[in-house]
Amino acid sequence: MRYQPVIGLEIHAELLTDSKVFCTCKNEFGGNENTRVCPRCSGLPGTLPLINKGAVRLAAKAGFATDCTINNYSAFDRKNYFYPDLPKAYQITQFEYPICTDGHITVIGGKDIRINRIHIEEDAGKLVHDDYEGISMADYNRCGVPLIEIVTEPDFRTIEEVQDFVEQIALRLKYAGVCDARMEQGSMRVDVNISIMPAGSSEFGTRAEIKNLNSLKAIGRAIEYEIKRQSEILDNGGTVVQETRRYNDNHGDTKALRSKEEAHDYRYFPEPDIPPVLLSDEDIAEIKNSMPEMPQTRFNRYTQEYKLPYDDAKLIISSKEFSDFYDEAVKINPDYKQISNLMLVELNRNLNDSEKTISDVTFSPADLAELVKMSSDGIVSKNAAKDILKIMFTNGGKPQDIAKEHGFIMDNDTSGIEEIINKVLSENPESVESFKNGNQKIFGFLMGQVIRLAGNGANPKLAKDLLTEKLK
Ligand code: ADP
Ligand code: MG
Ligand code: ZN
Repeated sequence: MRYQPVIGLEIHAELLTDSKVFCTCKNEFGGNENTRVCPRCSGLPGTLPLINKGAVRLAAKAGFATDCTINNYSAFDRKNYFYPDLPKAYQITQFEYPICTDGHITVIGGKDIRINRIHIEEDAGKLVHDDYEGISMADYNRCGVPLIEIVTEPDFRTIEEVQDFVEQIALRLKYAGVCDARMEQGSMRVDVNISIMPAGSSEFGTRAEIKNLNSLKAIGRAIEYEIKRQSEILDNGGTVVQETRRYNDNHGDTKALRSKEEAHDYRYFPEPDIPPVLLSDEDIAEIKNSMPEMPQTRFNRYTQEYKLPYDDAKLIISSKEFSDFYDEAVKINPDYKQISNLMLVELNRNLNDSEKTISDVTFSPADLAELVKMSSDGIVSKNAAKDILKIMFTNGGKPQDIAKEHGFIMDNDTSGIEEIINKVLSENPESVESFKNGNQKIFGFLMGQVIRLAGNGANPKLAKDLLTEKLK
């Protein structure tokens, strides 16, 4: 590699508050245009903003989710710019005093990516361009939706590091209940800043900023394209200009949008209509106490303490509800591996088949823990446990009741199974002959007959041992 890429991210995430950040309009996705607007968020003169405490709380939670310091004092500023999607002609944001600073996340390869800051700001509206009519229309439903912006240091060097970071941020924000992080719906959007420098150099090049990437794939392709584009410029003796670019998913390329504004272009000044946000140490401690355990901590517990395979642990943490369910179950029955297996294979199969999610499951983690215990205690066979799970999933009920009702309690009485085996052997003399002549495969057939006659409660191990014995 002749050039070393240097990458920094700015990630916007919409906060899961009920209402917008400076007015009482509903904060919801979708719906008819301009149905959730009021004089405040549509920027009518004479209206005053009122800060949503819930947004402050969620921003602080985002800080805890990323190991930031939460500041006792933060304040709002006005950032001036003129686009029709922003009816006030300025955006309220935090410039000088952001709510969170100095965080970090460890990414793939063990490298620490530093987070410079997280600040609160308001989202702009959406412009809808009608090329046929030749007009543009403004939808202000999104105007004033609370956002956080997470700004990293330029610490990334590879696409894999960037994608891992974005995945981790999305998951952590979801765990903390800060943002639903649906990149395809735009509730989390990533701006990639990228420059290149000659390999071995330590002086960063000039960066381009690629706005609003909405999938991991788009992030990867945009970075690849930029590395190529900037390398060609430098190879030809040119200089990269600092600008904002737009990524086009159909072509996999980026196009210049506008030359990059500097801070002074925005003429930031302190927002006069909103008092500073003051959080006492007690407030901050209280918010910290309300945080759930983060996915990375759970992952480490699963792989190190519970000895789960890497992939299994990763699958469990991929949904907080799933991981919560697992944690509740292993609290009752610490059979880490069996509970993980039953959830990842059987429960997931039932969920997929019925197009449901873990939050639709009506049985409790305790029921699942009990089922696994019944199986490991030899009360029901492994196969019966799968059948019982399916019944619990579809009809509800307690594993013990289901096992009794459907005859799944394993019959450990040798005489009963012996009788059945004798019957099967006497009814299939040719098969027995064939087995004795070396046809090993016929064993499975005979075993199948025995299990069929023995029913749900058959103890497969017992049956197998006895059948082997009889066939000697
Ligand atoms: P500005 O204030 O001009 O927006 P910042 O210092 O806030 O600049 O940086 C914005 C983003 O650009 C951050 O994510 C940062 O990591 C990234 N960045 C800064 N310099 C570079 C560079 N030379 N190459 C790549 N990314 C950079
Ligand atoms: Mg910036
Ligand atoms: Zn409003």
